[in-house]
Amino acid sequence: MTRAGLLAGALALGVAGVAPVAFAQGIRTADTAALMATVRVLAADSMEGRKAGSPGGARARAYLERRLVALSIPPLGREYRQNFALPRGVGAAANLLGVIRGTRYPGRYLVLSAHYDHVGVRGGQIYNGADDNASGTAAVLALAEAFRHTPLDHSVVVALLDAEEIGSPGARAFLDSGLVPRDAIVLNVNLDMVGHSETGELWAAGSGRTPALRPVLDSVARVAPVTVRLGTIGPV
Ligand SMILES: [Zn+2]
Repeated sequence: MTRAGLLAGALALGVAGVAPVAFAQGIRTADTAALMATVRVLAADSMEGRKAGSPGGARARAYLERRLVALSIPPLGREYRQNFALPRGVGAAANLLGVIRGTRYPGRYLVLSAHYDHVGVRGGQIYNGADDNASGTAAVLALAEAFRHTPLDHSVVVALLDAEEIGSPGARAFLDSGLVPRDAIVLNVNLDMVGHSETGELWAAGSGRTPALRPVLDSVARVAPVTVRLGTIGPV
């Protein structure tokens, strides 16, 4: 999952001024062991499947908050946590939001996101969610670390979102919060299930609706250590 996930970030973040090919090549040196260590923590039985509003979800959130602190990524608002209500009103859910200020266009934002929740425990069985979406969360943290050391032209919001599995109220809460005006968001790169393919495929969606992404995706695909496929279920 490691290279695929990092590549996904590299693909679209290249749009905003990073030479995409050079960036993709550079990111190959990311620490695979560190990425897998993050996945193992999030997917451990002690996290109880990270269901939004559950104690396991809160443990995962506490771990991720410590990671953001350790990476010296400042919070986007006054704190990392953005609390929001769950649809059925059970338990506390929260996104974690950090920001890496851009060097040329600090008022324009790339949102680098992944949901960290999963489906919890069902029928006495823990659904660990290593792929969905500990893998994407680990990749976002690795990319965030890289951008913390080498900021991009644009600001990057590091968005670890809660409650995707129950209809994405976390993503909606982020958009509705006004912490970043919608028209200041240039692009969202969302990583989900980047550990899914056992045949080295990475699906990149977005170029259907945003054709300007196509040459960027093509240029990175040529040098990618994985097979990049364009498209997804439904409109791309
Ligand atoms: Zn997912």
